[in-house]
Amino acid sequence: MVPASLSTKSCIWRGIQQRCPNCGRGQLFRSYLKPVAQCAACGAALGHIRADDFPPWMTILLVGHLLIPLVLAANFLDISTPVQLAFWLPLALALTLLLLPRCKGAAIGLMWSLDLVPKSGLSKTRD
Ligand SMILES: [Zn+2]
Repeated sequence: MVPASLSTKSCIWRGIQQRCPNCGRGQLFRSYLKPVAQCAACGAALGHIRADDFPPWMTILLVGHLLIPLVLAANFLDISTPVQLAFWLPLALALTLLLLPRCKGAAIGLMWSLDLVPKSGLSKTRD
């Protein structure tokens, strides 16, 4: 049960900081994108929360909106294609790797604040 004192904004912000959405003290991930089973600080069960495709979708949306205007602006400067590829591809990769865990944290924080997590801790199975 999510305490009433927790706002959606604070849960999302804690997730962006890769902290437990419940207390904001414990780590949210035990590896790059793998949530911890339980928060080390407050004991909130976090390992069963599945954000599915929402974090990659948010990451693509953010990276695209950040880079596409810059790429289009660079085209007006008449910079050669190999030079642009050598610059934009690593930048896109770095931004993606930087934003993906933060987007996943934000998605988990949002799901936590809206109480959209399975109660049993077990994910549903598909037949
Ligand atoms: Zn916690």
